[in-house]
Amino acid sequence: MKRFFFSILVFLFIAVSDAKPTVEILATGGTIAGVAASQTSTTYVAGSLSAQQLINSVNGLESIANIKYTQVYNKDSGNITTSDWMKLYAEVNKAAQDQSIDAIVITHGTDTLEETAYFLNLVAKTEKPIVLVGSMRASTSMSADGPLNLYNAVAVAISPQTHNRGVLVVMNEKIFGARNVTKTHTTNVDTFQSPNSGPLGDVVMGDVSYYSTPNRASTTDTPFKISNDTALPNVAIIYEYVGVDTKILASILKDKTLKGIVIAGVGDGNIPSYEHDFLVKARKAGIVVVRSSRTGSGIVSYDYNNLDTTYGLIAGDNLRPEKARILLMLSLLQTNDIKQIQQNFYKY
Ligand code: ASP
Repeated sequence: MKRFFFSILVFLFIAVSDAKPTVEILATGGTIAGVAASQTSTTYVAGSLSAQQLINSVNGLESIANIKYTQVYNKDSGNITTSDWMKLYAEVNKAAQDQSIDAIVITHGTDTLEETAYFLNLVAKTEKPIVLVGSMRASTSMSADGPLNLYNAVAVAISPQTHNRGVLVVMNEKIFGARNVTKTHTTNVDTFQSPNSGPLGDVVMGDVSYYSTPNRASTTDTPFKISNDTALPNVAIIYEYVGVDTKILASILKDKTLKGIVIAGVGDGNIPSYEHDFLVKARKAGIVVVRSSRTGSGIVSYDYNNLDTTYGLIAGDNLRPEKARILLMLSLLQTNDIKQIQQNFYKY
């Protein structure tokens, strides 16, 4: 409550003194910084424009906020690694501790944007707004969506209404919570959706409206603490389909560094019966196994087909497999206790 009044005071001070808020833009690459040979080419090099060039391409940005920036890296987001996450985490921390900065915007490739957003939603220890943004069309494309997306992301980051909503994603005039957002289309600008909950709000030409607040704990309200050089445990995702080759599955158990597996199961997180032997071996090797679903929406029912109680598995609630992996990695830094990890899946 105290913090809430403090942020209201900060915003009132900004309003009375007519000072613009200051936003730190952390640029990481992606199509928003991509350059193509022609306006209609679908082939381009992601992460080509510098942070400064990206900011210069957005008319009116400086009229709503003072902009600072850091080029964290400049990559296609498909190439981002967990050690890149630690670099970004360090920059987020720096901006969080810098009293001159009011909010943080991260430009990012859209392919893995939802993973970085959820990771930060769990580990960033700051009350300052953090907004991730990308684009589906390269900066040189006809009707490039990057400049308006970035303008809207800054508008959302500095809006007093953005208090206490966790890490956000702004794309195509919509505001999403990090936990539920996902990329649903290969090329369309309306690709980002939250199938389980819908968007949190709209942002039209910088005009922000919210309809809801995420109800899961995030940022300062989670117990996940990392440092700039934390090595995340090795967790793999196994995708289910008709006729999985159990020899290939068995071979992954040879990797003694493997600490967790997320199953992208069929339907309600279902796993074929001919894989049950594999589950027994994985659990015997101390590997923690979470069931999620490849369907893209809905909750994985606890103990569907008696899988959780029989094999000691965890039901991944309604997290997509790639996000269940992030929560499992962070949980494994704290415990191997499957009851405790199951609770994490209902809380975060
Ligand atoms: N491959 C690009 C990336 O994720 C796609 C994009 O940004 O839209 O970096």
